[in-house]
Amino acid sequence: MGAELQAPLVDGTAVRYVNLDYAASTPALQQVNDYVQSVLPYYASVHRGAGYASQISTSLYENARRTVRNFVGGREDDAVIFTRNTTDSLNLLAGCLPEDGEVLYLDVEHHANLLPWLQLPHRGLVAAGTIEETLAAVEEELASGGISLLAVTGASNVTGEVLPIVRFAAAAHAHGARIVVDAAQLAPHRRLDLLRDGIDYAAFSGHKLYAPFGAGVLVGRGDWLDSGRPHLAGGGAVKTVKVDSVSWATGSARHEGGSPNVLGAAALAKATEAIAGLDEPAWLAHESELRDALVEGLSNLPGIAVHRIFADSTDAIGVVNFSVHGYDAGLVAAYLSAEHGVGLRDGKFCAHPLLKRLGLPSGSLRASFGLGSRQDDVDRLLTGLRSLLRDGL
Ligand code: PLP
Repeated sequence: MGAELQAPLVDGTAVRYVNLDYAASTPALQQVNDYVQSVLPYYASVHRGAGYASQISTSLYENARRTVRNFVGGREDDAVIFTRNTTDSLNLLAGCLPEDGEVLYLDVEHHANLLPWLQLPHRGLVAAGTIEETLAAVEEELASGGISLLAVTGASNVTGEVLPIVRFAAAAHAHGARIVVDAAQLAPHRRLDLLRDGIDYAAFSGHKLYAPFGAGVLVGRGDWLDSGRPHLAGGGAVKTVKVDSVSWATGSARHEGGSPNVLGAAALAKATEAIAGLDEPAWLAHESELRDALVEGLSNLPGIAVHRIFADSTDAIGVVNFSVHGYDAGLVAAYLSAEHGVGLRDGKFCAHPLLKRLGLPSGSLRASFGLGSRQDDVDRLLTGLRSLLRDGL
């Protein structure tokens, strides 16, 4: 992790900043930071120049593609398209779907995995109270025909609950549909394996995966992507151009018009290498211990409710969603920041349909963990909440 931040408090002192907002964006890893510094001197345009610096940049960029494909366990012929972020990746895919099918999705999605589909023939399904019932409802919908794509999140950005994407993939394929996984939250917390798990497409963002802002990725089957609308029409996306017509390129070039974000892609790839190198059991245990400690601490405080979507979910990433009875979530978040130096997220988490259905139309609070989180962070949040409950705002 990068340098420790000191947060100024209202009383004029400063304390170690407690970042409980990894689900929004993660600080860049030191390895990523160092790597970006080391490649900055070779900054040059890719694919267009014969010069040595251009060759270096081009190989950085193309190697980044291979690294990311390995990270997600992609098929050899999967396209790896660098985008700005998950939102961009899903919008790109939305421009490439076959015309004769509908997109099926649940109401638990982040808007990034909901709004692109609203612009196409779609069916939005309200998730049931359990994962099992939800799967059954999805299967029924798929069996009724006409669905070309099932769009589902790997883990909820609101509650952290992990969805059974392998089972969703099997259901989609059984009815001739494909699946896209919004892995914005899953990829920083769990290993992906597209080939093994039968996932057709996955999208995620560098800034949630310990790399800087500005680079995301879409990985998946090339056929739809090769026949879809070029995402960014411009230089590099073409085979030939005449003054009033064009023959578009295939492969990732088709969608990456203009000068690409070489450093962003390289940094994203470096971060995936670092994540892939983690000791998996220790990585998962670190996060689940913190999550369990926070959930237990919250459940011992009066007037605090922890929210979940499914009664039967058994797996969750390091995200905990809660409300403090009688207190506006925004005011609680502001208090925790100003008086205790604790940063968490409040609001509706770009998931308005879900928040409304959970009975939280004016929002709630979300604490989320990552690689730099520690038990002391949990303690600081619980201490802040105890003070709030004792003294009020
Ligand atoms: N999907 C999920 C599950 C998310 O949590 C987010 C961001 O919070 C997004 C998509 C959108 O990511 P980005 O803003 O990087 O496009």
